[in-house]
Amino acid sequence: MEKLSDNAFRVLKERYLWKKGVGEDLETPEDMFRRVARHIAKAELKWGDSSEEKKWEETFFRIMSDLFFLPNSPTLMNAGLESAQLSACFVLPVNDSLSGIFDTLKLAALVHQKGGGTGFNFSELRPVGDSLGSQGGYASGPVSFIKLYDFATGQVKQGGKRRGANMGVLNVDHPDILEFIRLKVNGKALQNFNLSVGITDQFMEAVIANKNWGLIHPNSARVIKIIPARDIWENIVQGAWENGNPGLVFLDNIQASNPLAKMGKIWATNPCGEVPLMEYESCNLGSVNLARFVYQGKVDFKTLGKTVKEGIRFLDNVIEVNHYPNKKIERATLSNRKIGLGVMGWAEMLLQLHIPYDSQEAVDLGKEIMSFIQNESKEASHQLALERGSFPNWDKSIYHPAKPMRNATVNSIAPTGTISILANTSSSIEPLFALAFQRRRVLSGEPLDTEVHPLFAKAIAEGAFPQQEILEEVRATGQCGHIAALPYELRSVFKTALEIDPKWHLQHQIAFQQFTDNAVSKTVNLPSSASPEDIGRIYLEAWRHKAKGVTVFRNNAGNEQVIYQGIGR
Ligand code: ADP
Repeated sequence: MEKLSDNAFRVLKERYLWKKGVGEDLETPEDMFRRVARHIAKAELKWGDSSEEKKWEETFFRIMSDLFFLPNSPTLMNAGLESAQLSACFVLPVNDSLSGIFDTLKLAALVHQKGGGTGFNFSELRPVGDSLGSQGGYASGPVSFIKLYDFATGQVKQGGKRRGANMGVLNVDHPDILEFIRLKVNGKALQNFNLSVGITDQFMEAVIANKNWGLIHPNSARVIKIIPARDIWENIVQGAWENGNPGLVFLDNIQASNPLAKMGKIWATNPCGEVPLMEYESCNLGSVNLARFVYQGKVDFKTLGKTVKEGIRFLDNVIEVNHYPNKKIERATLSNRKIGLGVMGWAEMLLQLHIPYDSQEAVDLGKEIMSFIQNESKEASHQLALERGSFPNWDKSIYHPAKPMRNATVNSIAPTGTISILANTSSSIEPLFALAFQRRRVLSGEPLDTEVHPLFAKAIAEGAFPQQEILEEVRATGQCGHIAALPYELRSVFKTALEIDPKWHLQHQIAFQQFTDNAVSKTVNLPSSASPEDIGRIYLEAWRHKAKGVTVFRNNAGNEQVIYQGIGR
């Protein structure tokens, strides 16, 4: 088993490790990986005997404990429980009726309680002030119900460990869209929601051509108001400039690559955007740790491919042994069997290969790696279909009739916020955020020690540099680009998120999206000097390049940061 970092151990202790019994010690990380491997391997008994089960238990234990692959947090936390809820991602419907709204709220609370995150599209709700017809009175509108959902989310602590997370989408032709866009303006509001405007190609074309745009009543298709499309656009980019919200969800790009488009629309995603789902669907995720697949200065494609196949089997098994919050979610999930295998440690793979993140070489390698992972994932799902059968809606999918598939989707690039800490690597496909981190306790926010990135410390130790001075400077600023004593090559390889031109952030997102059937969760980081127009250009580029969504983060804007850069002077 790979040795875990102190920080990984701290996070595990605070949230993931079980108590062995009343008054007893916590399980060790090794116990945790064993508990998870055993639970997930149980699925094998449906098709094989106990020797198969044992064989896969060992494989799953190995890929997790070697930090080659980790499943999403709910799987690590809950596997082994009698009715374990193992998925991170859900989308629930919000119908235009009081009972519908509260039924879904109750279901969302149950999902949050067991560690899942929920996404909703609120566009079916009639606008604020609309008449409620025969009952009399006036509608509260989507914004008011989003606030209600946010408050309720804040009250449900997942096993006393973390609060839930939500994605709220409102389509760009909803009459309340401007109010929705301004919802998070004062930074602190709506802490448990990410907000995204549901954007259509037609709207983008109206913005480009500077045309008027109609806001439409969701029940009657009546145009309620006509305003210039650019008024909405300017409000969106202004909001994103102020606090990172709203992001955009590109509904037509999503639908164009929906493998089950015949079954209807997808118009919402899970909280961080990497999984577009139909209503009541859920999806479980896992990520391979790219930093572990560099061998003798090269990408070890052979071991990577093997791990991807084992990871796909793991995720398909999760669907088999999972317990679902209700029958509707169970039915929808079992019909399409969506899974999302992604990556973490991309920046650290590049570092080991001495390739700067902001280079065409990095983007090209990203395409090569993700295209390889996609092929291996689809092949693994195809093989599972031959062994276990295709997903029930396969005959309605783009894979029918040529290619039996076990899963309607296979890849997602998740943020890997926690599991990348456990694997002690960079998150998702993000560049390093800083070369020095002041960690804080997950729950209390209490500051801990300042750590210099180990790969940077190693590079400095190997060269003839004034080591102490450089480390001190990096501890204070979190960056090394300005340190003249360092050679150019080191300074460019160790560039951090805010030193990298936003266009490279977007290029990495697009490169990985090209080979990901679900979506990519990525933050395009911007310096605090960026203007709203800069954000507008990024949003437009993202749409043009067929991104499924886009999110920006301007340094020192109103939103809260999880990792603090350097410790300041
Ligand atoms: P992890 O590293 O914990 O496995 P990620 O940061 O990769 O998780 O997030 C993956 C998905 O997990 C998110 O898009 C969201 O659906 C869900 N998720 C993340 N954080 C939370 C949370 N606090 N509550 C509920 N769901 C969450």
